Amino acid sequence: MGNRAAVQPLNRFVEMKQLRGNRAETAAYLAEAFAGLYAGAPTPSPLLEGGRTAGLQRLRVFNVERYDRDRNDVGTKAGASLMAPYLRHGCVTLGEAKADAVGKIGADAATKWIQELGWRQFWQLQYERDGSRIFEPMEQPKVPLSEGDENTPVPDDVLAANTGLNCMDISLRSLYETGYMFNHARMWFAAWYVHFRKEPWQAGAKLLYRYLLCGDPASNTLSWQWVASTFSHKPYFFNRGNVEKYSRDPDGSTYCTTCPAAYSNTCPFDASYETLGRRLFGDYYQGDSRNGGNTGKRGDMASRRSSFRR
Ligand SMILES: Cc1cc2nc3c(=O)[nH]c(=O)nc-3n(C[C@H](O)[C@H](O)[C@H](O)COP(=O)(O)OP(=O)(O)OC[C@H]3O[C@@H](n4cnc5c(N)ncnc54)[C@H](O)[C@@H]3O)c2cc1C
Repeated sequence: MGNRAAVQPLNRFVEMKQLRGNRAETAAYLAEAFAGLYAGAPTPSPLLEGGRTAGLQRLRVFNVERYDRDRNDVGTKAGASLMAPYLRHGCVTLGEAKADAVGKIGADAATKWIQELGWRQFWQLQYERDGSRIFEPMEQPKVPLSEGDENTPVPDDVLAANTGLNCMDISLRSLYETGYMFNHARMWFAAWYVHFRKEPWQAGAKLLYRYLLCGDPASNTLSWQWVASTFSHKPYFFNRGNVEKYSRDPDGSTYCTTCPAAYSNTCPFDASYETLGRRLFGDYYQGDSRNGGNTGKRGDMASRRSSFRR
């Protein structure tokens, strides 16, 4: 009985897909079929349409030639492919994504694209090997982290995309309204949440997983651990210069141009990496790396967090 109930909606979903193009009807059907499995209004993403046909079309028009240079550019939005939901849900395979790029510009020119596809594969293999262990810290943290867990409530200003920081609020609105956030914005948000707000990475990962159309246990969880420093040799963090560089609009303005925190001189990122590193991590900060500092005192952290594996 239970199985039949499960199969019926799937059959109807297949029928609905024959409707092709009638998105409103498909959305209404899905809202009904998945009732109880989502919260809030069931609104289709204004940015992305589901299915293999839409995924292949997106791949076809994607300008892979610009990928290496522009993929992190959240200001122009010109570089990223937005292929993640299709790859995540198996509408398009990694092999197809690679072959398409190689066919367009050749393997050498497509190196960066292939490397990034490789990251997805790497996280999947890690998940395949370690299973649910990836939801716990993979290594000792290299800097002090929140003692909270995935059940630690997400602060209201984050849920409302009203933090007073444009680089967070614009990224969070994109997440909530479209189900997509640029990779660089994900890195900013995760770093701010974990290292500046001192919230647990597990709760941040749960939030992104809930809203991302590409929400993926392995890519999401392990990326958060990479930022936090439990799956990397150092924490990732950024400064205002990084936001200005990657959020520049074609008209020259950046997220900082209209940011309330920049106006009131309260931007928490407005300092050198060295200053921020010391401010965030104190004696645990050891480096002058431009992309987040190397850290020390592993022994101290290890003794404080003896329950961690490895
Ligand atoms: C905190 C955080 C959470 C993340 N959560 C997810 C998630 O839930 N699901 C998910 O698919 N990716 C996740 N990523 C990885 C990456 O941000 C997304 O894959 C990428 O932003 C998707 O957008 P795109 O398809 O336009 O990317 P593009 O830059 O166009 O990349 C093309 C494809 O390569 C793969 N890829 C690129 N970068 C990465 C990466 N760093 N790690 C793994 N695969 C990558 C993806 O399959 C992506 O679709 C996360 C990254 C961070 C920092």
